[in-house]
Amino acid sequence: MAMEMGPGIPRRCPCGALTIVLTSKTKENPGRRFYRCGVIFGENHVFKWADEAILEEIEALAARQSTIENDLIELKGHLLDMKKDTTEIVEVVAVLSTKIQK
Ligand SMILES: [Zn+2]
Repeated sequence: MAMEMGPGIPRRCPCGALTIVLTSKTKENPGRRFYRCGVIFGENHVFKWADEAILEEIEALAARQSTIENDLIELKGHLLDMKKDTTEIVEVVAVLSTKIQK
């Protein structure tokens, strides 16, 4: 089974287990933190350096935030249009009601 993971912090291993954060004690990466499958340490289970995962997480969040900002700008535009429409409707209703009362 190929490991399928998105970018960012791996919260779950493909096997379903929650991940854990540990600190490397190897000569190559002393003190470097990493995410690992909380149950099995093996080929088809999560292993990811925390610094890389966190950087990916931040990049993914920044992309999501810019999408949300654009959506918000669009929604504000719609809201403004709706307010104008409402004002027009209120004016029409006012005119009509004075005509009816006559
Ligand atoms: Zn696993």
